Amino acid sequence: MAQHVDEIALPRLPIWEMSLPDFPTRSKLYSLAPLGLNSPLVESLTSYLCRLAYEHHLEVGTLVQHSIAPILGKHYIADSHGRGVSSFLRYASPINGNGLMAADWVDALEALTLRADLALLTLLVGTNAFSQRDLLQPVRQWCPRCYDAWQRQGAIIYEPLLWSINGITVCPEHSQHLERRCPHCSSSLPWLTWHSRPGYCSSCGKWLGKADSRSQVEEKGRYLAETVGEFLARMPQLPLVIPREGVIQSLRDLIATTTDGNMAAFARSLGRPKTSLWELVQGYFPLSLPFVLQLCYQFHLPLLPLLLGREQVAPGESPVLQEKPPKRDVRCHFDRENVQQALEAILADQQSAPLSMREVARRLGYPVRTIETHFPQLCRDISRRSAAYRKQQGQRRKARLRQRITEAARIVLMQGENLTFRRVGTIIGEPGCFREHEARLVLRDIRRRLDAESSLE
Ligand SMILES: [Zn+2]
Ligand SMILES: [Zn+2]
Repeated sequence: MAQHVDEIALPRLPIWEMSLPDFPTRSKLYSLAPLGLNSPLVESLTSYLCRLAYEHHLEVGTLVQHSIAPILGKHYIADSHGRGVSSFLRYASPINGNGLMAADWVDALEALTLRADLALLTLLVGTNAFSQRDLLQPVRQWCPRCYDAWQRQGAIIYEPLLWSINGITVCPEHSQHLERRCPHCSSSLPWLTWHSRPGYCSSCGKWLGKADSRSQVEEKGRYLAETVGEFLARMPQLPLVIPREGVIQSLRDLIATTTDGNMAAFARSLGRPKTSLWELVQGYFPLSLPFVLQLCYQFHLPLLPLLLGREQVAPGESPVLQEKPPKRDVRCHFDRENVQQALEAILADQQSAPLSMREVARRLGYPVRTIETHFPQLCRDISRRSAAYRKQQGQRRKARLRQRITEAARIVLMQGENLTFRRVGTIIGEPGCFREHEARLVLRDIRRRLDAESSLE
């Protein structure tokens, strides 16, 4: 008696799940992980671009011409044929900086790799804190011993962001000068060319690593490399964009503590005109990084607290200190009663925006630390209230931004256009708002929702 095939198979064989699994979105290029994050030697975006091309077995120029130029549009590379790309690449070092070009390249590369951490390979965190002028080292510089060490360890060869920063001349790892000319062909090299590859000369193609390279470095070069390195290592924990107020506050504090508020004497000690210093103190212009580094070295202050304006500036030995008359001993003049009354009045005031301890100290004319020593509890209460207020303001601002992005996205879709950062940013009237990680996440979330809806239809 022949049995039906279903009767034999059904009880023994499992039933297959035939519906399609949920595939995550695929990136167009490899989602290559950046090197050195959270360390002083974090990779630069130009280096990342070179490695990305290498991993795809492409030359940098080819990758830019065919994958990146179409996203960036004519704004940067007017003629996206070979020659246009080549000449653009020669001047592409601002990709590592803090301007619009860096922001656009980060967006383009993040869109192609589906990564969200590429802004950390640039100085975009300093968009507001320091000026674009004199920020980057125009020609390529490198540490031959770093290259050599990585090659011996079998590690991936790359270029740290630190090497591309103007004013950095020393490798903090090896305490030796960075080189700027190829030892084989004596060429000075641009950061990017059609054939760039980290570790190799883009002119003669030879290896740039050397084990036996030694040079005498000055204390200043070493100090700056170390303090900028510390700052780069801490970038992932910093706000997306450091506000300008921090460094301006530090500058004001320095003028107050070193020359008793005498701006002319302070400007003289730095060899700068008084008027330009005054403009900086008013916050009219961002400070240039070389100037900030001059302050770091002259007053032995680490870069990060100087930029954040968080630490009470307590300058060490410096030419300014040597010039000025002995510092006034503020403890002798501390008016305990008046300060207490003022602190209590500030805490009792429920109408105005809560002041930070720094601002309170500035108004009362004493250092924060002095006031805190006399009235620890009152100071703690003031700080706590101000921190809570700042947090609340931050949340409100983010909620407003979310709402504006959602509204702008609706308009862009109604116009039948693509939801790009640039288009939505233009509608909002703030093309730079997507430098903020949070803002990018909001728009990506909207896109994802739309994709899910359209796949259901
Ligand atoms: Zn080195
Ligand atoms: Zn060479």
